[in-house]
Amino acid sequence: MSFTLHGLGVSGGIAIGKAMLMSHATLEVGHLTVAPRMVDKEIERFDAAVLAVRNELKQMKETTEHAPAELAAFIDIHSMFLEDSELVDKPREIIRERRCNAEWALVQQMEHLVDQFEQFDDPYLRERKFDVVQVVERVIKELLGHPGRAKLKAAKSSKEDSLIVVAHDMSPADTIAFKEHRFASFICDVGGATSHTAILARSMAIPSVLGLETARAMIRDGEQLIVDGLRGVVIVNPDPRVLEEYQLRKEQIELEKTKLKRLKSAKSETIDGVEIQLQANIELPGDVPVALESGAEGVGLFRTEFLFLDRGDMPDETEQYEAYKKVVKGMGGRPVTIRTFDLGADKDLKPEATALDRVKTNPALGRRAIRLSLAEPRMFQIQLRAILRASKHGPVKILVPMLAHAHEIDQTLAAIEQAKSSLRGEKIAFDENIPVGGMIEIPAAALAIGLFLRRLDFLSIGTNDLIQYTLAIDRSDEQVANLYDPLHPAVLMLLAHTISSAEKADIPVSVCGEMAGDPDLTRLLLGMGLRTFSMHPAQILKVKNRVLKSDVSELAPYVRKILRLDEPGKLQEALDKLNN
Ligand code: PEP
Ligand code: MG
Repeated sequence: MSFTLHGLGVSGGIAIGKAMLMSHATLEVGHLTVAPRMVDKEIERFDAAVLAVRNELKQMKETTEHAPAELAAFIDIHSMFLEDSELVDKPREIIRERRCNAEWALVQQMEHLVDQFEQFDDPYLRERKFDVVQVVERVIKELLGHPGRAKLKAAKSSKEDSLIVVAHDMSPADTIAFKEHRFASFICDVGGATSHTAILARSMAIPSVLGLETARAMIRDGEQLIVDGLRGVVIVNPDPRVLEEYQLRKEQIELEKTKLKRLKSAKSETIDGVEIQLQANIELPGDVPVALESGAEGVGLFRTEFLFLDRGDMPDETEQYEAYKKVVKGMGGRPVTIRTFDLGADKDLKPEATALDRVKTNPALGRRAIRLSLAEPRMFQIQLRAILRASKHGPVKILVPMLAHAHEIDQTLAAIEQAKSSLRGEKIAFDENIPVGGMIEIPAAALAIGLFLRRLDFLSIGTNDLIQYTLAIDRSDEQVANLYDPLHPAVLMLLAHTISSAEKADIPVSVCGEMAGDPDLTRLLLGMGLRTFSMHPAQILKVKNRVLKSDVSELAPYVRKILRLDEPGKLQEALDKLNN
């Protein structure tokens, strides 16, 4: 019988294949009482399983050098949990004191930790409960003798490259298996927009639908599925006509992808010969190969806070320097824009990692980004020295997030000068003329742009936050996601004002928020005068395709007219016309 499930489309594309159910039944473990003389043996069995999983994760880390950076980060999180006494020592105590079998002891402790994670206000921290569950699942699989592996082995030997994984939730380890086994797609019952699964799906460009709630219960192994990652739809046992239609759409998408690859070496310029810089947003040094593969002409945004998010401590100067150097060298002479830490709000530090204040209510309006860096001068100096040192290996720019006030810019410039002077004193080489830019992501900054233009060498517009602050909606709250509108006239006015003011002042300006990677907005931004875009590497060729087919001299007057419209319907109509 054919039926359709609806969820959250988190990664576009279409996959057609057979369902492969991933079991999470491992958490339904037997409850056994261990005889007193067997307690030590049971603890030994538990220790051996933990050790085996630790080694497995270590091995995965070593073999995933070219995997998406997020994967490595998730393996790190899981490894960290496996070092934590809450997961390692507590179950041993439960085995000894309550004489529970290892699996049962571990599940009890897991439930206790999940309860604790659920208390967090911060959605990012709350979602880490899934990591706890995934780590525990791995240890239990080990205790039970790898039932999951057997299934993957069977999948491998079937040479099937159109298997669709149906799971309750996915772990990083499972995702690595995707790469090995070339799964076509994955769908899950749970997972929000910031869940690991969503992040991974996007970075690996695998069609994916999350939040299906009942997929695992309703779909059976081997059933035929169509996954439409754009619309968030899963069709189970489609009838032949629907299947044919989707096959056609899939072929079209694949053809377009192949065509796009040919654009990699094409010069990025418009029909009327205006050169457009298309750069990459990266999170970790491991993202550099993907950026280069997609033809990125530089790194427009290196979100450095991802270097230590979740690991519980901050990298010292040497570790940061090595990470920045790796990116600069990897980009082979192309410019690298290193953003200073944008911590706080949804990218919060773990409370035990630092004594820094955590703002519980309205964290997005609290001490985040540059506000936090200026409040922690020691942390800031370490980062600035590391960035400056990396600048001797290639063209580096410093980008400062969340600036609103003139005095914040002045203090930042003074901090950079202090870092330079300490390096000079130690005779350590760096680029004396390193450009310093500011992110425009607060409406106040866009409106009082003169303050920025007079003090900085370049600007980068962070539309993700600019929209959040202009429209007063929390970007990580799915309940107001429908109000998150890049085309709101107020957002467009701020963007256009920033771009044209920078142009008049002869100060380079780019957009590095999600708007830059949306090909449907490329012409609008070009028409506003934007010449530098920075985006997720997977979007670069799609945007380049639009650039190559656009004529800036024609676009500019039309976009000026669009900017005078404030009725949403008319604005959308005009934009559709612009794109056709
Ligand atoms: C932005 O706000 O648009 C941006 C690029 O920064 P982030 O998404 O890291 O806040
Ligand atoms: Mg931002």
